[in-house]
Amino acid sequence: MNDDIERVLYSQSDIADACKRLGKQLTKDYEGKVPVVVSVLSGAVFFTTDVMRQMDTYTQLDFVDVSSYHGGTHSTGEVQLVTDISRDVSGRDVLIIEDIVDTGRTLQFIIDLFKNRHAKSVKVCTLLDKPTGRVLEAKADYVGFVVPDEFVVGYGLDYKGEYRNLPYVGVLKPKIYVNK
Ligand code: 5GP
Repeated sequence: MNDDIERVLYSQSDIADACKRLGKQLTKDYEGKVPVVVSVLSGAVFFTTDVMRQMDTYTQLDFVDVSSYHGGTHSTGEVQLVTDISRDVSGRDVLIIEDIVDTGRTLQFIIDLFKNRHAKSVKVCTLLDKPTGRVLEAKADYVGFVVPDEFVVGYGLDYKGEYRNLPYVGVLKPKIYVNK
């Protein structure tokens, strides 16, 4: 295990099982449709590729980049669109893939973005849900794991750009973000 990690919350095999479970449900729910899967950069990329490979349905893949954290451990409250998707979603079923929902600000911003563009439906699949951090009511329709109120990294989630490539999700030792 990486020395900066206090404990592993979800192992590689826990995550693989969650992707299978979610993929099965998404296959059922999107049967006969071609959803636009919108992966939220950069944290959700690992989860997106794994969960999409468990979806036995036609899909189109796109990416959106928003900034809210600015590399720290607490949300600034302000969400900005950094990179937009490349297609028109009007009349389309949009499935947003997120790494984690904390305050809900990022998610609400992205949901509103596609609703305002007249998407036929907008649903959300997140690897992690941290309900204790919620400020807005944004809700994910598909959730991998409900996490405790701790700062986690790995499997796409970073701290100042690091730890994304850890194959598991773990709690970062507080001394790492206090000292850095
Ligand atoms: P929200 O807008 O819901 O507060 O935050 C969503 C974004 O904040 C996520 O996409 C993620 O980038 C970041 N975030 C929230 N909680 C955590 C956490 O525990 N660890 C990491 N690495 N990022 C987090």
